[in-house]
Amino acid sequence: MTSATASPSTAAAPFDASAVKADFPILSEQVNGHPLVYLDSAATSQKPLAVLDAERDFLTHTNAAVHRGAHTLAAEATELFEDARATVAGFVGAAPEQLVWTSGATMGLNLVAYSIGNAGLIRPGDEIVVTAIEHHANLIPWQELAARSGAVLRHIPAHDDGTLDTDAAASLIGERTRVVAFTHVSNVLGIVNPVADLVAMAQAAGAITVMDACQSAPHLPLDLPALGVDLAVFSGHKMLGPYGVGGLYGRTPVLEALPPFLTGGSMITTVTLDRAEYLPPPQRFEAGTQPIGPAIGLAAAVRYLDGVGLSRIHAHEGMLAERMRAGLVDIPGIRLLGDAAGVERVGLWSFDVEGVHAHDAGQYLDALGIAVRVGHHCAAPLHARFGVTASVRASTALYTTTDDVDRFVEAVAGIRPYFGV
Ligand code: PLP
Repeated sequence: MTSATASPSTAAAPFDASAVKADFPILSEQVNGHPLVYLDSAATSQKPLAVLDAERDFLTHTNAAVHRGAHTLAAEATELFEDARATVAGFVGAAPEQLVWTSGATMGLNLVAYSIGNAGLIRPGDEIVVTAIEHHANLIPWQELAARSGAVLRHIPAHDDGTLDTDAAASLIGERTRVVAFTHVSNVLGIVNPVADLVAMAQAAGAITVMDACQSAPHLPLDLPALGVDLAVFSGHKMLGPYGVGGLYGRTPVLEALPPFLTGGSMITTVTLDRAEYLPPPQRFEAGTQPIGPAIGLAAAVRYLDGVGLSRIHAHEGMLAERMRAGLVDIPGIRLLGDAAGVERVGLWSFDVEGVHAHDAGQYLDALGIAVRVGHHCAAPLHARFGVTASVRASTALYTTTDDVDRFVEAVAGIRPYFGV
């Protein structure tokens, strides 16, 4: 078994996105006769060779189920799997026992909503507060929990510029609030939300905080214990890792207070025909065979990200976001969603093209080899808030170059003339 290491870049060297890009085989593909410009990293990121190799090495040399076999491969696989947990936990500032493997962020958020409900922490008339700009994965599980428990779901609104209305949050979060759920970075607006304010309000009310870190984990340094959130989720496939794996971070007392969501093998101490005793976290939440290869791949992914350096990635993508904005605002008929000034953001812009449906705009860009996301990006209420049903979203990652952004902006300028509007 060889362990995958990363990146030609080091924390000290100047950021070279082209060198990073060379580690991602798919990014040298042609699409529709053009070199691929991949601007859909918020939907899913591309994977560097280090990640593909790590999963393949594991499956080629070590593959075995973990935590159960007495044979050598099982012991080696268990060690790699638990090392991966320590690596991924460390990436978000956590201890290994604070990281639960999930199949992705959607699974993590459902786990949390069900476990909080099953713990009896939500009673009729209690309140669950979410923002009005969530991905459906951090909205619908709370709608369902409210419906099951008789709780009231309340929403923190956004200002016209995409920032959260923290004054409204302060008046919404109160003594009936049991949970405050919010995204760190919106997958449509790209704005980094005021986590410290939200955590302070929730703590004052004695509410549990649940943060969706899908769109921050691959783009900026993340220290979940320092942010003070109780629970947070992230998604492997959006942070250079494989599909089918994600992480749920929990503060130790919070995880310890929650009952399991799924039950079955690998999460028990004793079982009789009538009842079972459960292991402590994180295993309590890991019923059944876990995504072992993907977890090892995700560890390689976070080593790669760390090798490049999250501060440098954040600065690079901030520069790209500025460059993209500067190009887009000059194009007639383009309206950016969440164009707030002076806020911290990741490399992501969603926009409306006046007179052209987002899907038509997406197809036009695709014909030029440019991959963007079109639609509501699983955030339909957010789009309704901004008066549209769909938008075009361009999202960057550490491998995005200024040339990618320039080609994209030039292409966007051609959309309305092409459609004759
Ligand atoms: N939350 C946000 C902000 C997202 O962007 C996504 C993915 O689109 C999800 C949650 C769902 O993540 P997963 O694909 O891991 O279930």
